[in-house]
Amino acid sequence: MELFGRELEGRENGALPPLARNAHSLYLYGGGEKGLIESAIRRVSGDMLDGLVPLEREDLTVSIGSQYTEVCGAMSGLQIKTTGRCSDYALKISGAKRQVHRLISVGDGELFARLEFEGVSVFVDPCPEPVDISRPVQKAFFDVRDHFCQSVPITMYLRFAFGGSAWCPIENGACLIVDDPVLRPRYGCIEYGRIAGLCAKHRFACTFAFIPWNWRRSRATVVELFQRNPDLLSICYHGADHTAGEFGAKSAVLLNAAAKLARNRMIKHEHLTRLNAEPIMVFPQGIFSAEAASVLKHNAFVGAVNTTVSPQHAAVRTAIADTWRPAITSYSGFPIYTRRYMSQGLGNFAFDILLGKPALIVTHHQDFIHRGAEIASFIDNLNSLRAKLTWRPLGEVLRRSHAQRLLSEGILEVRLYAYEAVLENRTGTAQMVLLTKPGQECGDLESVDVGGERRAIAPAGEDLRILATIPPGASLPVRLCFKDIYGDARVSRSAPTRAKIAVRRILSEGRDEAFARAPRMVGAMLAVRSYLQRKFSRSRAVLL
Ligand SMILES: [Zn+2]
Repeated sequence: MELFGRELEGRENGALPPLARNAHSLYLYGGGEKGLIESAIRRVSGDMLDGLVPLEREDLTVSIGSQYTEVCGAMSGLQIKTTGRCSDYALKISGAKRQVHRLISVGDGELFARLEFEGVSVFVDPCPEPVDISRPVQKAFFDVRDHFCQSVPITMYLRFAFGGSAWCPIENGACLIVDDPVLRPRYGCIEYGRIAGLCAKHRFACTFAFIPWNWRRSRATVVELFQRNPDLLSICYHGADHTAGEFGAKSAVLLNAAAKLARNRMIKHEHLTRLNAEPIMVFPQGIFSAEAASVLKHNAFVGAVNTTVSPQHAAVRTAIADTWRPAITSYSGFPIYTRRYMSQGLGNFAFDILLGKPALIVTHHQDFIHRGAEIASFIDNLNSLRAKLTWRPLGEVLRRSHAQRLLSEGILEVRLYAYEAVLENRTGTAQMVLLTKPGQECGDLESVDVGGERRAIAPAGEDLRILATIPPGASLPVRLCFKDIYGDARVSRSAPTRAKIAVRRILSEGRDEAFARAPRMVGAMLAVRSYLQRKFSRSRAVLL
C-alpha cells in the first residue's frame, strides 16, 4: 500500500500506472508510512477515507458482508470472533461519491473493502502482510480465528480474481462422522433410528467410524437400517483395536499388522452383515505417525480422516499450505483429510469451504444428547451458508474431492487426492481430462484403473499423468493401487493382549452408557479425570 502511494504521488493527477489500468483488479495491502497509506486510499476512494482507526485488541468481532457472495463465498454474512493479532488499524470510509463494498467490517471501520477507481476494482486490505503458509500449524488444527486478517481477505481475493483458471472443487462435499459406536439400536446417547430421521429431516449424511474389534457385535435391526439408507448411513474404519495411539506407532511391522487386522475383521463383518465399510481410516484419538500414512497407502486404503493435522513424533509439523488443500499429502503422498469439531465454529468450516476443502464434522455419542438438537442446529447453520453443500457418505465425499481447472486447449486437468475418484461429465460433449497427482511417484504404483481399464504407468521417478476421455453425460471411476510392500503380517493377538483390549473396550462402553443415563455426574467425573491426567501427566499411573 505504501509503495502504491509513492507510485501515485509521482504521477500526474494521481492516475493509475498503465499496467494497473489494464488489470482485472488490484489488491492493495500492507502497512507502512501512515501518510502515504492514507493518501493512496484517498485517491482510490475519491476522498472518502475519513482516517485510520487503530485496532488495539486481538479479540475482535468481525462482520463479513452478506451481499458480496462473488468475493466472500461461503463466509458471506458471518460474524467471527478473532483470537490472533489482526491489522494495526481499520479503514474508516464514508460518503457516497463512489460505490464501496464493505466486505469485512469491524466496529465502524473496514478490514477489507472493494472500491472502483478508473474502471478498475481495487481491493484494500490494511493487514501488514499475509500469513506465511510455509510455516507449520502450531495448534492441533489450523484455526482461521488466529490468523483471520492474514488469511481471509487474501484468500477471498485470489479466489475471486483467478476464478475458473485456479483449482476449483467439483462440489462442496460434506459428511458428519460419528466415532466409536457399536451398531446396536442404542449406544450411549445414540439411537440409530433417530439419527436416520435427523439425516432425512436436516439433509445430511452420516458415516460411523467403526472399531473393527466390534466386528461380531452388530445387530441385525441396525444393519438393516443402514442397508435401507445407504445414502444417509455408512461405516468406515476406526483403528483395529482402538488402543491408545495404535496408528501413532513408528514401527512399520506393528502398523502393518494393525492395518491387516483391521481389514480382516471388516471383511468378516461384511460377510456377516453384507455391509461394506469404506476403506478410509479415521485415526483413533486423532493420533497418527508419518509411517502410518505409508502403511495405509500400501494396504489399499483410499485415504484417512483426522482431527489433528500433524503426525506424532514428527520433527517437523504439517505446514499451513498443506492444510489448505483438500487433503494433506505430505506423508508418502497418502491423502489425510482434516475434520473439525463443531466447537471450532462455523467460521472455520466456512473457510474450509472457501478453500475448496470438504466440510467434515467429528462427533461422538455424547454430542447426540438432547435428541441430537445441537447437531441438527449446527447442520442447519452449515446448510444456510452461501455455498451449496453436497452431503454424501464419507467415501463418496472423498471420491469427489479432486480439484480441477480448465487448460487452454480445452482439456480439463484433474488433480487427484483420494486414491479412488469418480469423474463426471455433465455436459453434452466428450471431455478430455488430464489426471495428475503431484508428488505421487509412479514407482510405488501397482496399477491405475481408469473406467475399469488398466492404464500404463510412467517410469519410477516421474509423477502420475494420464489422459482420458469422459463421454457426454457419463462418469469415469479412477483407482490407484499400490504395491503391498509390507507383505503378510501376524494379525492375531496373544491371550493377555486380547483380554486387555476387551477390558478397555468394555470399560469405554460402560462409561458411554453411564454418560447417557447421568450426563452431569459422568461429565463431572471426566472433568476431574482430565484434570488429574494433566496434573500428573508425568506419572505412569493409569487412570481409566
Ligand atoms: Zn475413537
